[in-house]
Amino acid sequence: MPPPGSRALFFRKATQLLTLAGPPVPRRSTALGELGIIQDGAVLTAGSRIVRVGTTAELEAEARRLKARPIDCRGCVLMPGFVDCHTHLVFAGNRLEDYEQRIQGKSYEETAAGGGIRLSAHRLRQASPRDLARQATCFLKEFAAHGTTTVEAKSGYGLDLANELKILAVMRRLRRMSPVEVVPTLLAAHALPPEYQEGSKAYLELVAKRLIPLVARKKLAEFVDCFCDRGAFSVPECRRVLAAGVRYGLIPRIHAEQLSRTGASRLAAELGAASADHLDHVTDADVCRLASSQVVAVLLPGANFHLGLRRYPPARRLIHAGATVALATDFNPGSSPTLNMQFVLSLACTAMRMTPAEAISAATINAAYSLRRAGRLGSLERGKQADLAIMAVSDYREIPYYFAWNHCVLTVKRGQIIYCRE
Ligand SMILES: [Zn+2]
Repeated sequence: MPPPGSRALFFRKATQLLTLAGPPVPRRSTALGELGIIQDGAVLTAGSRIVRVGTTAELEAEARRLKARPIDCRGCVLMPGFVDCHTHLVFAGNRLEDYEQRIQGKSYEETAAGGGIRLSAHRLRQASPRDLARQATCFLKEFAAHGTTTVEAKSGYGLDLANELKILAVMRRLRRMSPVEVVPTLLAAHALPPEYQEGSKAYLELVAKRLIPLVARKKLAEFVDCFCDRGAFSVPECRRVLAAGVRYGLIPRIHAEQLSRTGASRLAAELGAASADHLDHVTDADVCRLASSQVVAVLLPGANFHLGLRRYPPARRLIHAGATVALATDFNPGSSPTLNMQFVLSLACTAMRMTPAEAISAATINAAYSLRRAGRLGSLERGKQADLAIMAVSDYREIPYYFAWNHCVLTVKRGQIIYCRE
């Protein structure tokens, strides 16, 4: 882990400071749209922490006393760094073939026959840890350059003992080397490996009885995930894997109701999962069940965009029912090759009718809840970690409005500048 920032920093004169301050609970319903905006806002940091938040005038004297380095935020929005709570960061190569075939009319599931996750697994197995780490490090620099300070990362392209461990070992290296925080998730139940096409039983046994205990003992992952869908794993199969994870201290997350309605989101509620992700095909009853649970509904509109789908996850229904909604990129080579959370905000607003304020809360504080890090990340409040981003816009609504731009000019992680635009 990089050393915490030493010199105090004084971010001053932000046209809008989005604090996201509020009671220490996930933001549901109308609370999702409250950004805690301070005009002419300022944030004072010392070491890796936030010392004080307020107006520039309120903080001037203390900043002088701490001999803080001033950073002028005039004409800019100052906000918490994005928390990207669903990515598949470590992979090899790309899936350009699938992309072109889909453009010509094939569905995601049709391209899975010759390409898909199994093609990514084939390429990953041939890649060296060094090459995987090098590519992921480049990606993490790009995440930082777009204002993202925390990235959840799933395994799931190894699909055997050695290669799943290889990915998680690469992530451990990234956790030590990269200033962007990487949160590791074991997703061995991502697809059925080519060696097990006769049936899933033996592979899932391997995952539950050998891989999960090993991963837990070596502390290689915090979360356990599975792809519960048509063409992937069934609800009973996922229950077995996730329950095995829980027995070893891993917290469940689930790829749920993306391609079809399976009941995976109910399983998430039943197991007290941290998140149920995608949710394109949830029923009204599923929405109610999620709303009455602590499960965070992580919506991934980048996948819908890249796959050219007309239908998007029902953000408004979920928000209206009182579910905790978060947003993430789903960065991966097959269905969502973007790492730009700002573009995800644009999709959330335009395609899912979230307001810009709701989208920002979903991409910061609620995403931090889904990673069980909201006590430390996701808002700019005294005592929290100094993770923030400066956007070169004077109104936060411009971030999704000017879509597919990169508005980020400066990113800070643990009180240290990790990206600064020339
Ligand atoms: Zn995913």
